[in-house]
Amino acid sequence: MNYDVIIIGAGPGGIFSAFELIKLRPELKIAVFEAGHELKARRCPIDGDKVKSCIGCKSCSIMSGFGGAGAFSDGKYNITNDFGGTLYEYIGKKQALDLMRYVDDINMSYGGEGTKLYTTAGTRFKTVCIQHDLHLLDASVRHLGTDINYVVLENIYAHLKDKVDFHFDTPVEAVAVTDSGYEIKCKDNTYTCTECIISVGRSGSKWMEQVCVDLNIPTKSNRVDIGVRVELPAEVFAYLTDELYESKIVYRTEKYGDKVRTFCMNPKGAVVNENTNGIITVNGHSYEDPKKQTQNTNFALLVAKHFSEPFKDSNGYGESIARLSNMLGGGVIVQRFGDLIRGRRSTASRIEEAFITPTLSATPGDLSLVLPKRILDGIIEMIYALDKVAPGTANDDTLLYGVEVKFYNMEVDVDEHLQSPYKGLYIIGDGSGITHSLSHASASGVYVARNIAENL
Ligand SMILES: Cc1cc2nc3c(=O)[nH]c(=O)nc-3n(C[C@H](O)[C@H](O)[C@H](O)COP(=O)(O)OP(=O)(O)OC[C@H]3O[C@@H](n4cnc5c(N)ncnc54)[C@H](O)[C@@H]3O)c2cc1C
Repeated sequence: MNYDVIIIGAGPGGIFSAFELIKLRPELKIAVFEAGHELKARRCPIDGDKVKSCIGCKSCSIMSGFGGAGAFSDGKYNITNDFGGTLYEYIGKKQALDLMRYVDDINMSYGGEGTKLYTTAGTRFKTVCIQHDLHLLDASVRHLGTDINYVVLENIYAHLKDKVDFHFDTPVEAVAVTDSGYEIKCKDNTYTCTECIISVGRSGSKWMEQVCVDLNIPTKSNRVDIGVRVELPAEVFAYLTDELYESKIVYRTEKYGDKVRTFCMNPKGAVVNENTNGIITVNGHSYEDPKKQTQNTNFALLVAKHFSEPFKDSNGYGESIARLSNMLGGGVIVQRFGDLIRGRRSTASRIEEAFITPTLSATPGDLSLVLPKRILDGIIEMIYALDKVAPGTANDDTLLYGVEVKFYNMEVDVDEHLQSPYKGLYIIGDGSGITHSLSHASASGVYVARNIAENL
């Protein structure tokens, strides 16, 4: 029951902490506590046939378990400081990039070799975009694909499982400070450790908030991204995605000066449901294996909403909008762009008659009844702007799924070592509010592991 290091959460942040600690200090006694299942037991019951929508499993297999929220993701590791988190603000730009490249090397040697690394550097699309007031962000993107991402996780687990004590299906209830370190309380047992790494991701955001209240750790929160997932024939974006795979494009709306951006582009991919704390939102992924690919490309269009005093509950605002779509549609709503522009709802027959087949079974409806006008206006403006660099984007049959919400965990007060005001208590990954991506979360895990390995 006594460990040198306890890691809470087996997402990329927790996994890479364990990986690096084992490598640098194999003699240390390390445990990982994970609320969800081990990798092979993770299965979402939605099969689109018998189970069409979320049945609210006790532990959501999409978000929880070995591999964390990223296990069934598209496995896009963006190696950049331009998006995906603000880790560089704590550890410096060069070190952040070096760590992301190090994570990429590990992924390559655990099953990812042969996958493609795309880059925006020196691309001609930057010029094309800027000519239309669109701004293409710089990044290198390793696309593992959902299938290879899973293989990499399987291999890393095989490497770790005999060197680290994994406690699956064991949510940590509380963390207490003791004279010699930390006490980790689970339902049936209490464990102690000298150093503790908390890496609970987005699904652990409410729990993280409570820990911060209990331990009096300062936090701040003021942002949520709200929008839709766009799905269109893969040909429309092919000339961009064939070369760049993922393009992060930012646009400032004329009407309000709001920033709208593309996010999580999935060429020949599928739109999927996402369950965050019981609220169904939309996301997307794609496979590396051509046999599993679809005819469509999907990506999110998101508007960042920052709030000022006195409002503090930005995630609550996003949740309310997502709840509204769940109330009207029983889950995710889908609407043709042409129907949205004409101010009418989409119906099952209008969707069926469209020249595109949706990859997610969602309820045809009217997104204008869900999304605030300002956000919807921004999305429509961006679709017309994108139509100039990818003609066909503003087609009547382009499908919009709503709502997509990117919840940001409140930012926890940590220092340049990602250490909380308590010595030996580290808060990393998406749960810290500092990272929002696979590569940044993984890099933060390696970073704290090195610090612990040196000082413990
Ligand atoms: C469908 C989908 C697709 C995505 N695609 C991409 C992509 O292509 N590229 C990209 O960069 N990002 C993507 N993301 C985001 C990415 O998955 C996350 O940024 C990343 O997983 C964060 O890693 P993490 O370790 O911080 O947290 P997580 O991966 O969320 O892991 C946290 C883990 O902690 C566990 N946990 C929570 N609370 C407790 C507790 N109290 N006790 C014990 N365990 C707990 C959870 O069960 C979870 O397994 C995607 C996310 C989703 C949902």
